[in-house]
Amino acid sequence: MSPNVQLVLKKIGVGILDTLFPIRCFGCDVPKEYLCQTCLNIFPRRLRQRCPTCLKTTTPRGEVCSSCFGIHSLDGLFAASLYRSPIVSASIHIFKYRFIPAFAKPLGNWLAERITEADVALPDYFIPVPLHSRRLRFRGFNQSTLLARTLADILTPGFDIPVLENCLLRTRFTKPQIKTQTRKERLANLRNAFAITEESIPLIQGKTLWLIDDVATTGTTLEECATVLKKSGAKKVFGIVLAR
Ligand SMILES: [Zn+2]
Ligand SMILES: [Zn+2]
Repeated sequence: MSPNVQLVLKKIGVGILDTLFPIRCFGCDVPKEYLCQTCLNIFPRRLRQRCPTCLKTTTPRGEVCSSCFGIHSLDGLFAASLYRSPIVSASIHIFKYRFIPAFAKPLGNWLAERITEADVALPDYFIPVPLHSRRLRFRGFNQSTLLARTLADILTPGFDIPVLENCLLRTRFTKPQIKTQTRKERLANLRNAFAITEESIPLIQGKTLWLIDDVATTGTTLEECATVLKKSGAKKVFGIVLAR
């Protein structure tokens, strides 16, 4: 069976595939897990967080530095790992592009541990960065929503802090940010790409929000989302990503 056929069958949930292709850790091949604890333990931790505006000044949890305060909408960006690490980028890639939602648990657990270690103050709500409905239909799940649910589950047992899954909408189908070259191109690609749903506006008034995504490259996506949320009344918006 060609890998493409396997993928399509896997996506439509043909159960026999689990028998034909038993679950194994993609890193070390141990059975029963897609990503085992031993492999997670070698994920590099990002030891220094930087201000998301200037990308230069180091701040304890990725808060905006004092010279950049007020320039952009995003109040900070905490990135737990390094995207350039092969095991990190490969696991995120498999999660998203081989349609394996089960990766959300180990990756989300690992991210939750780093958040606890760094002592990042918890928000009022978790908000996943949305996918366009066309991409969501194709993939079958939004990886950021699954990560946000895992975080909510671990960091706030009993879901004391809700995940606002339908707060933001992606209103334009854009090309992946990773395929844009310059800052100008990235900004143009995302201009007016996000909107907030009517019913979410009263909820976020004066609230502190975490914007959850799997990866940040330049932070443009998070910044665009933060701008929409702030214009609608949010007090503070902090980005939380697995890797950068
Ligand atoms: Zn492993
Ligand atoms: Zn700065």
